Amino acid sequence: MKQFDYSSWALDTLLVHSNKLSHTTNNSGKPTVEPIYTSTTYLHLNAEMLNQSFSGRLPSGEPAYVYARQGNPNAQALEAVLAQAEKGVGAVVFGSGMAAIHAALLASRTVFVPVGVEVVLHDLCSSNVIEIVRAEQPDVIYVETLSNPLAKVIDLDTISAVAQEAGAMSIVDSTFTTPYLVKPIEHGFDLVVHSATKYLGGHGDATAGVVISARNNVVEQLHGYATMLGAMLSAFDSYLITRGLTRI
Ligand SMILES: *Cc1c(COP(=O)(O)O)cnc(C)c1O
Repeated sequence: MKQFDYSSWALDTLLVHSNKLSHTTNNSGKPTVEPIYTSTTYLHLNAEMLNQSFSGRLPSGEPAYVYARQGNPNAQALEAVLAQAEKGVGAVVFGSGMAAIHAALLASRTVFVPVGVEVVLHDLCSSNVIEIVRAEQPDVIYVETLSNPLAKVIDLDTISAVAQEAGAMSIVDSTFTTPYLVKPIEHGFDLVVHSATKYLGGHGDATAGVVISARNNVVEQLHGYATMLGAMLSAFDSYLITRGLTRI
């Protein structure tokens, strides 16, 4: 099968050709639009195949599925497009923007410590942002590219640099800007979150969220949260967001 080098493609080209990223639609005689897989469970011919499928792949390299909460072709198709669009290494979609933000924050701490997490609010659009971060020494810095609802603009390069200096995970909510306007991973951010309910979906008929990661180990962690917390995105909503995003 021909391998495409998507990294050099312009965003519009990437989005309209994104069906080529999909696992199930890239062979001759297969539908060009990903069918909607509503099945919650998947067939396995024997216990060995079932066991193998838990890894997400068969020995042939074909994707394999077990249960809807652990993985679904429509959700994976959307994740593949979003990871490429944001130039991340992977993405995990969630049932809402808030579920995505929750998972991103959980992934920012190696151990889940719900008690003792202190939230401090600062205006990081201010000119003394470097001093603020140096004084706080946070574990996580969470900002919005354009704030909702005031549309304040943040300096992404400064924030990511000072986060790195402080050893903090940097997370940015890019809902208002979308990869069409800015790709925060290119500005040094660790995680990008979106409420896909807004512009990524674009039709106002589906609620969804996504976290895009610059690092592989965090993608695994996020996928674990989607699975274990039951916060994954449904097949139909994955289809709706993919359709909003890729078929202009
Ligand atoms: C809407 C919104 C959210 C919450 O997303 P839901 O999909 O409603 O859960 C988070 N961040 C921003 C910037 C938003 O506009």
